[in-house]
Amino acid sequence: MQFDQLGLPESLVRAVREQGYTEPTAIQAEAIPAILAGHDVMAAAQTGTGKTAGFTLPLLARLGENAPANGRPRAVRALILTPTRELTAQVQESVTTYGRHAGLKSTVVFGGVGMKPQIDRLRRGVDIVVATPGRLLDHIRQRTIDLSKIETLVLDEADRMLDMGFIHDIRKVIATLPKERQTLLFSATFSDEISKLAMGMLNNPVRIEVARRNTAVETIRQHVHPVDRGGKRALLSQLIRNGDWRQVLVFTRTKHGADRLAKQLAVDDITATAIHGNKSQTARTRALADFKKGAVRVLVATDIAARGLDIDQLPHVVNFELPNVPEDYVHRIGRTGRAGREGAALSLVCVDELKLLSGIEKVIGQDLERQVVPGFEPDPNERPQPIFKQRGAPPARKRQPRPTGAAAPRRGKPAGSGQPSQRRRAAFAGGNR
Ligand code: AMP
Repeated sequence: MQFDQLGLPESLVRAVREQGYTEPTAIQAEAIPAILAGHDVMAAAQTGTGKTAGFTLPLLARLGENAPANGRPRAVRALILTPTRELTAQVQESVTTYGRHAGLKSTVVFGGVGMKPQIDRLRRGVDIVVATPGRLLDHIRQRTIDLSKIETLVLDEADRMLDMGFIHDIRKVIATLPKERQTLLFSATFSDEISKLAMGMLNNPVRIEVARRNTAVETIRQHVHPVDRGGKRALLSQLIRNGDWRQVLVFTRTKHGADRLAKQLAVDDITATAIHGNKSQTARTRALADFKKGAVRVLVATDIAARGLDIDQLPHVVNFELPNVPEDYVHRIGRTGRAGREGAALSLVCVDELKLLSGIEKVIGQDLERQVVPGFEPDPNERPQPIFKQRGAPPARKRQPRPTGAAAPRRGKPAGSGQPSQRRRAAFAGGNR
């Protein structure tokens, strides 16, 4: 299958070719014709599958059919909702890249920066708005945006928007849109909540599912380095240095932990910067730009801040700490191995995290290979300590439905709160598998 067989106009095929894409990814091959035909679409696709181009290209094609001539007034005809500022900026970058020959205008709307420049940009006239729900509502309330001409609504990473508590904002936004419109919903997983949201909103949607639910992208090599709690930092520095890793995304569980680790790496002469929700938008943008252009080697991130980050050919993702929610593991490692490229994801796991690890293995339906690094053998006598919930951490999320075939998650105490069994600890300290 080639891009020019999908029914896209030449201007878009050319832009895609200029990006160096040779053929459409699976989600693109399925979603593009369906969206071009005007259908509502409900697609399960993780980041890294090429889903952004999957909805952006046909969206641009449809809008381009009756784009106003230069100088003519423009109305907002497409709205793309995303969960985070970073993702908003990235989606707009894709809109700009793919639409560079299409003669359409787009802008972003998100919080953490002044309203005024956004209002000015909206007043000058745009065809496409990419927005986070909260700031968009501010504009709606202040009547600084007119959404009455919307033809297409895209909900990108809808599962994460629900997780982040945006459901009410989303419903309020949708209430202001024309009933007659095309709606496209993209989500990493189809949970009951997503299906409920979709039911009232999508009209007889075409359902597309390209990757198995909660299945880690297959081009990613994954393994676990068992290590003592206090040995993680030194092990990480050694792995980065010995492997001569140039671009590493490292996940911590907490904002404070992200800051601390970035500072400690700097002490080890490894350039690092942290990105998390307590940083200003300017600081987040700068950190990401520095990392993308290779000015810093390590970007230390929390889950929310890293959601949706698209960094080309990111070769290494490290879980410095395992996430509390097993599904976040899938999202984290999805930062590498994008669009079919190879990537490596490794997790530094200490005895406190064995329950989290087995929860992750159940969700992804596979056991992760253990590789003990010489010099960092975990002490079999190290006693597990409870993993405390951070102050200000988001409320616990509802559990996602299990992938077919995976064993039922354990009921009772939350993962990570208890003592791992003697057997599990022995196997963990015992070495490679
Ligand atoms: P996404 O899943 O939308 O975040 O896209 C993941 C990455 O895949 C991005 O860096 C895109 O530039 C890249 N990409 C999208 N479509 C293709 C394609 N057809 N061929 C190669 N790379 C692509």
